[in-house]
Amino acid sequence: MTKRTPMMEQYTQLKTQVPNAFLFFRLGDFYEMFFDDAVVAARELDITLTGRDAGSQGRIPMCGVPYHAAEGYITKLIQRGYHVAICEQTNTPEEAKGLVQRAIVRIVTPGTHFSSDAQTASTARLLVALCGDASSFGLAALDVTTGELWAMTCSSVERLGDELYALAAAEIVCNEATRQILTSFTWLTARNICITTRADVHVAKERVCHVFPQVDPSLLHEKETYDAVMAVLYYVYDTQKKGMEHIRLVERADIAQQVEIDASTRHNLELIESVRQHGRHGSLLGVLDATVTAMGGRRLRRWVDKPLTHLPLLLRRHDAVDVMYQQPLERAMLIEQLKAGYDIQRLIGRIATQTAAPRDFVMLARTLVTVPAIKQLLDTPKFLASRIVASFVHDVDPCVDVYERCVQALHADLWMNLRSDMVIQTGYDAKLDALRQVTQEGKQWIATLEQEEREATGIRSLKVGYTKVFGYYIEVTHTHNHAIPQDRYECKQTLSGAQRYVTAALKEKEARILEATEQLESVEQALFHTFSNTFAPDIVRLQALADALATLDALQSLATVATTQRYVRPHMHDGYDVQIKEGRHPVIETMCTTDEFVANDTTLSADGTRMLLITGPNMAGKSTYMRQVALLHLMAQMGSFVPARKAILPIVDKVFTRIGASDDLVGGQSTFMVEMRDIQQMITRATSRSLVIIDELGRGTASNEGQAIAQAVMEHIHHTIRCKTLISTHYRELAHVVHTLPHMDNATMAVHEQEGRVLFLKKLVAGIAESSYGIYCAERAGLPSALITRAYTLLQGEVAHERAYAQKEAVSTPPPSYEQLYLQTQANTSSQQWIVQEFLHQLQQWDVLRMTPLAALQHLHDLKQRLQERSLDASSVTSFPTEVH
Ligand code: ADP
Ligand code: MG
Repeated sequence: MTKRTPMMEQYTQLKTQVPNAFLFFRLGDFYEMFFDDAVVAARELDITLTGRDAGSQGRIPMCGVPYHAAEGYITKLIQRGYHVAICEQTNTPEEAKGLVQRAIVRIVTPGTHFSSDAQTASTARLLVALCGDASSFGLAALDVTTGELWAMTCSSVERLGDELYALAAAEIVCNEATRQILTSFTWLTARNICITTRADVHVAKERVCHVFPQVDPSLLHEKETYDAVMAVLYYVYDTQKKGMEHIRLVERADIAQQVEIDASTRHNLELIESVRQHGRHGSLLGVLDATVTAMGGRRLRRWVDKPLTHLPLLLRRHDAVDVMYQQPLERAMLIEQLKAGYDIQRLIGRIATQTAAPRDFVMLARTLVTVPAIKQLLDTPKFLASRIVASFVHDVDPCVDVYERCVQALHADLWMNLRSDMVIQTGYDAKLDALRQVTQEGKQWIATLEQEEREATGIRSLKVGYTKVFGYYIEVTHTHNHAIPQDRYECKQTLSGAQRYVTAALKEKEARILEATEQLESVEQALFHTFSNTFAPDIVRLQALADALATLDALQSLATVATTQRYVRPHMHDGYDVQIKEGRHPVIETMCTTDEFVANDTTLSADGTRMLLITGPNMAGKSTYMRQVALLHLMAQMGSFVPARKAILPIVDKVFTRIGASDDLVGGQSTFMVEMRDIQQMITRATSRSLVIIDELGRGTASNEGQAIAQAVMEHIHHTIRCKTLISTHYRELAHVVHTLPHMDNATMAVHEQEGRVLFLKKLVAGIAESSYGIYCAERAGLPSALITRAYTLLQGEVAHERAYAQKEAVSTPPPSYEQLYLQTQANTSSQQWIVQEFLHQLQQWDVLRMTPLAALQHLHDLKQRLQERSLDASSVTSFPTEVH
C-alpha cells in the first residue's frame, strides 16, 4: 500500500487549522479543493467535480477554480455564509527543490470580506463582536472596508436585540453562551447573518493591542465594550493575519443619545426596508435618500437608523439642512462636485491595507480636486451660519499635498484611462525611464522591420508578428518560399499556409526587449509599492476628509428632499407638547398622485390630551395617520425636515409601535402572543417622554377579553407612564373609556355617507366612528347578495342597542358635521373621484335599449377616450383607493 502523497499530507495538516472554512489550496494557476470541501463547493459554485490520486487514500474528490477568477467564487461562497481560507505557495518551485511550501495567508469571512461589489456600496457590511453576560453586553461593530469601528454597551438583552436589528451585520462573533441568547431573536436567521462562535473572544486583548496601535482603548470605560473592541480586532487579526492601519474607533456610541426603537417598531415603521417588498422602495430611507455618493448613502442610512435625542446635536443638523435648503443654486453646484468624487472611504481602506490598485490613487486624487472647489462654494456668510458647514470650510484638511504626490508619481495615461498599464510618470525615476527607452526603441525597430524586409526580399505580403509562446517572427506564405534569403532567415515554425522565420538580429532585439520589459515591470511595481506605502501617515486626515464629504452629501440629500417634497423645518423643544399642522405621511404621499394625500393635524399636550383613541372602519386611514405621527418625530430627530405645514415637536426618547396582523411566522408565535409581547415591552420600557402607538389594540383574542386587556393597558399608560399615545381599535365599545381618563380623547376618521355611497375622507375628527361598514365592504368585495341581506338582518338586533349608545354619546361630544368636512376636504380629495362621478352620470343618461350596438360602442369608446385624456388608467378605476359605492 502506498503512503499518502507529501502534498496531501501538507493539505491535511493545513485543513486541520481551518475545519470550518473551505480551504482554497493553491496549486500553480488554480485553487484546488479536496474531499468534502470539493463536493460541497462543486455544488455551490456549479463547477465540475473531478478526482485525484492521493496515494493510500486512493482517488479523492477534487475541484478547482482559476486563481485569477477566484474573487467571484469567493464572493459567492461568502454570500452564502461560508468562510474561505486562502492558502498560497510561499516559495517558488525553484527555491523549494521538492514540495513547495504553503501557508494560509488569510481567511475570508462574511464580516471581513473586502467586496468591491457596487451593489453593496450603499450599505456597510459590518463585523460585530459581542462580549458580556446575560445582563450587559459590549458591542463592537466594524466596517472593514472603511475602517470605521463603533463601540457601545447594551444594558439588557432587549437593547442588544434592538441594536443588532438596526445594524447591517454580515457576521457576528461571540461565544457559545451569547449565541444561545441570540437564538431568542427570531429575525436573525431570516436575515442570513453568519454567527461565528469562538471560545477565545475574551482572551485576546494583549495579543492585539500592539497590532492596532491606532485604536485607543482607553476611551472605553465599560469592561464589556473594551472586551468587544478587542474581540473584533483579534478576529480581524486572526483571519487577515495582519493589523490594519485604517481601523479607527470613530464613535463610542452613546446609546442614551439615540432614540430607542425596538426591532418590531423599526420593522413596522419601515424605516430602512418596506415590509412588503423588503427593499428600499416604500421605506422612509427610500424617500429621504437623494445622496449622490456611496459614502453619503451610508451616512444617511446611519442617521435614519439612529435618530438623536441630544437637542444641540440635532439643531446643528437642522441648521445645516436649512442653509442648503435656502440656497438651491449653490446646492446644485455642490451636488455636481460631490458627484465627481469617488467612494474614498473604501479607497482609503484599500490604500491602508496595501490592496489599492494604481487607479485607486487616481480616483482619490480626482476626489481631492473637488475639495477646494466645495470649500469656496460654501465659504459665504449664509452657509457659514451652519456650524457643520463652517467646520468643513475652516477645519477640514483638503490634503492638497496628497493630490500633488499623486500627480507627480502617476503616469498621464493612467489619468486618461484607469485601466492603462503605464503606472509611474516619466521623470519620476531615471532607471525606469531608461528601461522604457530600451523597450520603446526595440519596439520601434521591430515596427520598421516589416517594411525593411519587404523591400529586401521583394515579398510584399511579408508580415512581422508576435505570439506569447514563440515570440517575434517574420511570416511568409509558402508561395514565396523561394524568394527568402536563406543565409539570414532561420526557419522557426511551419503553418499550413505559411512559414515563420527569425533572423539573428531579430532574436537579439527580442531578447533585449524581453529583458527590459521584465525589468521594467518589476521596477515599476517596486516604485508603485513604495509610492503606495508613503500614504500610511496620511490615512487619518484622509479619513477625516472622507467623513466630512459623507456628511455633506447626507445633508444636501435632506435639503434636496425637503425642497422636492415640500417639507418644513420643525421647531424642536425639550418639553412635552406636540403640534403638527397638516402633517403628511412621507412615504404614502409619494405613492399618491398629486394633491391626493389628505393632511391631518396632531395636537398633544401634557396638560390636555395626551392620548387619542381612534375608532373607524377599515381603510379609513387610521394606521397611516398614526405611523405618520411617529415618522414625523423620527425624521425630525434624524435631522430631516418634516412633511407638514408647521411642526412643533418635542424630543422623544423612545418610540414604540404595535401594529396588528403581522404574525411572526418565522418565530412560530401567534399574533396575539406577539401583540402581548410588544405591549409588555412598551409598558416596561416607555417613559413619559416616549411616543407609543398601538394599532388595533386587543384584537387577537375573544372580544370581551380583548376589550378588557385594552382598557387595562390604556389605564396603565394614562395613570402611570403618561406618555404621548395613539391607539386605534375596531371595538367602538371601548370609546366610553375616555370618560374616566381625563387626558384621553376619542377621535375618528371622517366618513361621508350619501345615497348609499360611502366616502372615506381620511380626515381625523373628534368623536366616535358611526359604523364599521364591515358588511358594506363585504358587499363591495362581491359577496352574494343573499348573504349580505342575511348579514344586515342579523345586524338589526344590534342596531337598537347601537342607536341608544350613539345618542348617549351625542350629548357629550356633538357629532361633527360631515357635510361641512366634506366640503372642506374637497380640494384635497382625489380628482379621480370627480371623473368617476361624471362617468356614472353619463352612464345614467344612456338609453341602452334604444341604441344600436354600434352607437353603444361609439359611446363607450368616447368615454374611454375621455378617461385616457385625464390620464386615469384602467387600474385606478377598478380599485378606487378611497371610495366605496
Ligand atoms: P385603516 O388603518 O383605517 O384601515 P389605512 O391607514 O390602512 O386605514 O389606510 C387605508 C388606505 O388609505 C391606505 O392604502 C392609504 O394609502 C390610504 N390613505 C390613508 N391615509 C390617507 C390620507 N391621509 N390621504 C390619502 N390616502 C390615505
Ligand atoms: Mg389599519
